[in-house]
Amino acid sequence: MGLLSQGSPLNWEETKKYADHVRKHGIVQFLNIYNKVKERQKDVLLWGDEVEYMLIEMDEKNEKVRLVLNGGEVLETLQDKGEKTNPNHPTLWRPEYGSYMIEGTPGQPYGGTMSEFNTVEDNMGKRRREASSVLNKNETLATITSFPRLGCPGFTQPEYNPTPVEKGVSKSLFFPDEAINGHPRFSTLTRNIRHRRGEKVVINVPIFKDKCTPSPFVEKFPEDDGEAARAALPDHIYMDAMGFGMGNCCLQVTFQACSIEEARYLYDQLATFCPIVMALSAASPFYRGYVSDIDCRWGVISASVDDRTREERGLEPLKSNKFRILKSRYDSIDSYLSSCGDKYNDIDLTIDEEINKQLLDAGIDKLLAQHIAHLFIRDPLSLFEEKIHLDDENESDHFENLQSTNWQTMRFKPPPPNSDIGWRVEFRPMEVQLTDFENSAYVVFIVLLTRVILSYKLDFLIPLSKVDENMKVAQERNAVQEGMFYFRKDIYKGCNPVLDSSSAAQNGLDSEGDNEYILMSIDTIINGKEGVFQGLIPILNCYLENMEVDVDTRCTILNYLKLIKRRASGELMTIAKWMREFVDKHTQYKQDSVITDKINYDLLRKCDSISKGEERCPELFGDPVNRGK
Ligand code: GLU
Ligand code: MG
Repeated sequence: MGLLSQGSPLNWEETKKYADHVRKHGIVQFLNIYNKVKERQKDVLLWGDEVEYMLIEMDEKNEKVRLVLNGGEVLETLQDKGEKTNPNHPTLWRPEYGSYMIEGTPGQPYGGTMSEFNTVEDNMGKRRREASSVLNKNETLATITSFPRLGCPGFTQPEYNPTPVEKGVSKSLFFPDEAINGHPRFSTLTRNIRHRRGEKVVINVPIFKDKCTPSPFVEKFPEDDGEAARAALPDHIYMDAMGFGMGNCCLQVTFQACSIEEARYLYDQLATFCPIVMALSAASPFYRGYVSDIDCRWGVISASVDDRTREERGLEPLKSNKFRILKSRYDSIDSYLSSCGDKYNDIDLTIDEEINKQLLDAGIDKLLAQHIAHLFIRDPLSLFEEKIHLDDENESDHFENLQSTNWQTMRFKPPPPNSDIGWRVEFRPMEVQLTDFENSAYVVFIVLLTRVILSYKLDFLIPLSKVDENMKVAQERNAVQEGMFYFRKDIYKGCNPVLDSSSAAQNGLDSEGDNEYILMSIDTIINGKEGVFQGLIPILNCYLENMEVDVDTRCTILNYLKLIKRRASGELMTIAKWMREFVDKHTQYKQDSVITDKINYDLLRKCDSISKGEERCPELFGDPVNRGK
């Protein structure tokens, strides 16, 4: 989850004093990097995935499943046995927000050849086996996006009580501080977000109203001092801690582009896919022991790290804050970065004018300057006493500080100082799937999409406000089948300078006067529809036909694309839908939206055996020919 510094963390009052210092030097650090590497061309395509995992314990005797808070030790063991023994070890392990979480990546990035697609699942399998091998008996590694009973009494092993009243980090009614990773970065972020905001974070997720769900659905919180009663909305599942968001798992992909221009182009193009692929990967229907009415985690995390004050949120006139800020730090992107994207930048962009000017004066173009000046409206959330005064030529911690706490759907990543890493972009919206097969399929689908976008110079851009509307739809229950998404009709027209300057293009109209984009279902976008849109899978298939690929790799890729295709058409279920059906059919489920311990146990046991390949699940992924490779 970003930069890990060692040292003594400062509290919010102290951090705040250094906010301008961090921003000022962060910009200098960015400019130093930019000037050194702006001309870099011909970096090769490299890419890698990140999978986040939860450690869970199956208590057979009590038929209970709990999150195990030993991620710290597990991580240390994995690193000792892995990268610390052998620099070429095939896996890398990193901490994540929850003390029950770890994150795994391949040891080395994948390269640009097609045959690498055939090694992804294998590497994910290695990670799963490696991590599983260091767990205690009854413990298992779960790739679930949200733990259904996160924040319910006794959801951790060992068990801890939350500390809403005493001094604590989250002060949550539900989420104990012990469930937060022991590295000071994570608790400092948690505390400083709360202090900066001036109150606990507020997460309200609409509850799924089943036949016997009380209506209105209103909860009482015995330990509440009044804050929860004010914050909780009727008919919603209320949550009050960063852990409810950042304690969820996802699947991410990072690409190295061959130049800064290519990175900016990819950033923009992929941004339009974030809502579509998120809906296709939907895997998180349950929160704090209840069935919700959403299928994706996005809005939950967004609210869980929303450090904006009341003034910044527009609830009070600006007095002590500088800006009215429209979104949380964890949210969708606010501006395109490539010249083709400029005319589609139609979202109000709050920027720090001074920083913007400083960047423009230093020779940065308008689009990149405003992107950085927008990220830099935020305050640093964690700062270490030993890391205040830095060597701006050779370090980038202050830049990274703000960069890594702007958690947007896409991230544009300048190279670290003095490294041979190139310009990168990160694709961040996907939910993690149960099996390595599915996770590989989603990853390979995205990487192939970038290949096709670059080779055929495709253009998927639509006004960014429409991408934001898509983000909202994408999280709704069953969006994959019922949602309608704005999508570009003609993706071959590309970014045509003549057309771009015409007033028709500015109005979002193409030369015939029709809209450039229309509402489509995910099935149409992915699989195509006669006379409407040719579909992404047919385009990818056409690309594959023209590529030299060995038979085995081709078969693997086709299996992956088949999964995406069938999930999009509704022939196969998303994880979210499948989980909902599992709960609905459970004999103990009372149609009251409650996920009991027993239901949770049975669900996660089932997930575990599917993840391990012990059990087939044709509703989720059919019967792929070479599964388990
Ligand atoms: N776990 C977060 C998510 O589900 C992402 C944290 C990270 O940036 O690594 O989106
Ligand atoms: Mg992560």
